[in-house]
Amino acid sequence: MSDAGTLYVVATPIGNLEDMTPRAVRVLSEADLIAAEDTRHSGRLLRHFGIGARAEAIHEHNERSQVPRLVEILKGGKSIAFITDAGTPLVSDPGFHLVRAARQAGIRVVPVPGACAAIAALSAAGLPSDRFVFEGFPPAKSAARRAVFEKLREESRTLIFYESPHRILESLKDMSEVFGPGREAVLARELTKQFETLRAGGLGELLDWVGRDADQQLGEFVILIHGLPRAEREVIDEAAGRVLEILLEELPVSQAAALAAKITGLKKNMLYEYALTLKKDA
Ligand code: SAM
Repeated sequence: MSDAGTLYVVATPIGNLEDMTPRAVRVLSEADLIAAEDTRHSGRLLRHFGIGARAEAIHEHNERSQVPRLVEILKGGKSIAFITDAGTPLVSDPGFHLVRAARQAGIRVVPVPGACAAIAALSAAGLPSDRFVFEGFPPAKSAARRAVFEKLREESRTLIFYESPHRILESLKDMSEVFGPGREAVLARELTKQFETLRAGGLGELLDWVGRDADQQLGEFVILIHGLPRAEREVIDEAAGRVLEILLEELPVSQAAALAAKITGLKKNMLYEYALTLKKDA
């Protein structure tokens, strides 16, 4: 498919227009077509950089239906530059179906990297960054959100979430309850913009702080949570193990596990399983 065009996946700024790369400006200027999540929104960016190319809307509601047509345009030898409202396309943004279909059709897909809120936040948060898990937006409803957090409670890697201003308080509250108020976290708000704020603290402290100051509930947020440190897990296991051993000398497994759960705050099921292994080893 050597005569086919190229699909460029172009990152745009997340607030500060100085973060637009010269390469992004050139690729957008040279593309035959710009596919944008919101043509009105991107129109401002394109005008700012004097880019006159034709822009078409590709958003989460029409992406699937537009993909075959865009792939045909690419096959016909035209190049398309794809942008979303802010940051890196496909990262909690549309573009996945287009990129997948283009690649499956043998079309060259070229990333033009730039800003991404998750990575910008991680780079300045001071939390372990050698391993991390990007979770995107937590579910909107509390029960589903808490279920997601429960599954991540023992995760040792740094967790990264996106959150919107109308759910920031509810989400922080659920996080504080599930991960514990003392779990170290960083709230990164309005990155690269006038009111950029990076605040570190326990989840409980961050919840109080945001709750007390209405200004801190405005804008765009990345929440980063320290993973459960390995050392802490070992200390918990060791301490819980000692408690269980003592209780098992006097009590049956299920009672020992229930009491140990009350004493240590750990899950009864987990302690029960552990008690069974202690019994087996004895
Ligand atoms: N594709 C984008 C990226 O590369 O980061 C993310 C798009 S997603 C629809 C928008 C969310 O990203 C916001 O609700 C917020 O959680 C996060 N975000 C985007 N810009 C941000 C900024 N300047 N500061 C903090 N968070 C931001």
